[in-house]
Amino acid sequence: MLQFYRSALPVPGNKQFTAIYGGYICSIFHIRRIMRCPYCKHQASKVLDTTHDARGGVRRRRECEHCGQRFSTTERPILATPLIVKQDGTREEFDRDKLIRGIRISCAKRPVSAADIERLVGEIESTLQAMGRAEVSSRVVGDMVIAGLKGMDHIAYIRYAIVYLGLDDLKAIRGEIDRLLEG
Ligand SMILES: [Zn+2]
Repeated sequence: MLQFYRSALPVPGNKQFTAIYGGYICSIFHIRRIMRCPYCKHQASKVLDTTHDARGGVRRRRECEHCGQRFSTTERPILATPLIVKQDGTREEFDRDKLIRGIRISCAKRPVSAADIERLVGEIESTLQAMGRAEVSSRVVGDMVIAGLKGMDHIAYIRYAIVYLGLDDLKAIRGEIDRLLEG
């Protein structure tokens, strides 16, 4: 746990803790130093009780040691998503909306709902976070989209694959369609 206190900024691949304190979102780094009573600004408070929620959050009920007012603080883990390393070697933040837009184009006029696309991208994001790595190749993301679309809609899958796998001639596209028909 100590390593989290030292680091105030989210680092991809590390679990970071933030806390919502008096309506402000701060890192644990700040909470440890300027945990002040929201009423009188006194720094010391005693913890009355601590509860844990199912998502790994911690809520503490506190009482100010100076004015006696009670207030609550919460801490919850934020899982960082790894940086995406593109084919040309440059890195970019995982962009959920951009991924959704790309998939949506492939799904135009197909019976794939916006909720299905949201769910797929949510699953991809969770998988990336669970890897606990600082960086992940864009291929990993593309492969997950391909695998997800394959199970959802074959036409959307073929459209995405044509762009993503760079299927630039009819023979390669037919090869992919043949594989789908066999599978
Ligand atoms: Zn106080």
